[in-house]
Amino acid sequence: MNETVRLFTEDGKRLDGRSFDQMRKVRMEVGVLDKCDGSAYIELGKTKIFAAVYGPKEAHPRHLAQPHRAILNCRYHMATFSVSDRKPAGMTRREIELTKVIKEGLETLIFLEEFPRSAIDVFIEIIQADAGTRTAGITAASLALADAGIPMMDLCAGIAVGKVQGKLVLDPSEEEDKYGEADMPIAIAPRINSIVLLQLNGRLTIDEFKEALSLARRGIESLYELQRKALKNKFAGIEEPEVE
Ligand code: ADP
Repeated sequence: MNETVRLFTEDGKRLDGRSFDQMRKVRMEVGVLDKCDGSAYIELGKTKIFAAVYGPKEAHPRHLAQPHRAILNCRYHMATFSVSDRKPAGMTRREIELTKVIKEGLETLIFLEEFPRSAIDVFIEIIQADAGTRTAGITAASLALADAGIPMMDLCAGIAVGKVQGKLVLDPSEEEDKYGEADMPIAIAPRINSIVLLQLNGRLTIDEFKEALSLARRGIESLYELQRKALKNKFAGIEEPEVE
């Protein structure tokens, strides 16, 4: 435990004024890009992410095509200017790992078998990173997939829970993440009650793990509501055809 850095104020609040179970401000929008089939934008505090989807389309190169299902190509990528030390332009080990866990999570939700020999491409572009990028990234990706009309069992939303100086906190800030003892990013598809992504960096007791899970679930329920609103907003201006 890092005792030298103070991460709580004297009255027990977090340094940015949040309570332990409070997320940063979230903003979501769907259909924000013109050139792809589906897109979404998410802001979680200062973290800013675009997600874009192409497909289903013919799989290339052809030898990668699967006769009974679509393949999902996924890329989590941080823009060079997304962090304060200029990030190398290519894919780092961390980006390769996050690409893998996000892809495997999304694969459990998409009805890939409906599109044999096809490919679906998902791009997650981190414009500004300030903690929580993998969970906000998968949240935006599921919205962009829905925007592209790709059939899925459910949307998924993600948030991290951190352990900071012995206390569990929802949606750790970059500082809390850096000096905390544990970080557990989690994404859930709430309607089907399925865990889509779960990682744990650091150590939690079994009781802390259970508490972290229920803290995350509450955050994810409110993210899910915002996702549904963002999708409905896109179509708010379109009037239903009159039935004669
Ligand atoms: P997540 O973004 O999902 O929380 P990490 O826990 O690996 O993933 O990273 C936490 C935060 O650390 C990131 O959101 C970002 O703000 C910062 N970070 C990650 N990689 C770098 C990097 N190469 N340079 C500077 N900051 C970074």
